[in-house]
Amino acid sequence: MEFVVDFKELRELMVKTQLIPRGITDERVLNAMKKVPRHVFVDDNMQYKAYDDMALSIGEGQTISQPYMVAVMTELLDLTGTERVLEIGTGSGYQGAILAELAKEVYTIERVSVLADRAEDKFNSLGYKNIKVKTGDGTLGWPEESPFDRIIITAGTPKIPEPLFKQLSEDGIIIAPVGDRFSQQLLKVRKSKDNLHEDFHTPCVFVPLIGKYGWNS
Ligand code: SAH
Repeated sequence: MEFVVDFKELRELMVKTQLIPRGITDERVLNAMKKVPRHVFVDDNMQYKAYDDMALSIGEGQTISQPYMVAVMTELLDLTGTERVLEIGTGSGYQGAILAELAKEVYTIERVSVLADRAEDKFNSLGYKNIKVKTGDGTLGWPEESPFDRIIITAGTPKIPEPLFKQLSEDGIIIAPVGDRFSQQLLKVRKSKDNLHEDFHTPCVFVPLIGKYGWNS
């Protein structure tokens, strides 16, 4: 007997049971989460778990974040569709695809080249034309493509890397899990003419951001 898994139905269920009850309200975010095929971003043997309420391994010691965490971070970015977004930590590419649904252009940097290459293949096969991938140390940002209206860091960091503030446009927003090695809290920073406004949000646990302006190793 053959089982046919209806991934679309699993996505609807994920939104209904994991995101809405926990307070995600942005309709654009909910629709993107209903649309992007998360199972494509995990290994074939994990696809049946792709819509479960947890982070999953993607190899190379790295993880694809829990759907709820992706939704919270995306909602905090306040995307309207016109923005240029920089993501640090491409990983599987799933968060990047969600961003590509909601912003104009996405630039994403991954330090592990096999992951960057794999994510790029997925973006191409799914037909995303507004995502650019680069292998390198994302704590340095992507000066050639700056300024960015939004910056999202999807790895845990002791502080927001200094170069990123310079590459953020006026009225820009940065979201990052800031804290120690094993536990962080989402930090939202809003830049305005002459100051930075900071708010702490949900507690979280991310793999470390390793680079010149993150952790050493
Ligand atoms: N956004 C991803 C989850 C990323 S996990 C997704 O949707 O699947 C964090 C990723 O950050 C890992 O792949 C890790 O290799 C990467 N990373 C860690 N330090 C980095 C750095 N300095 N620059 C770029 N990527 C980094």
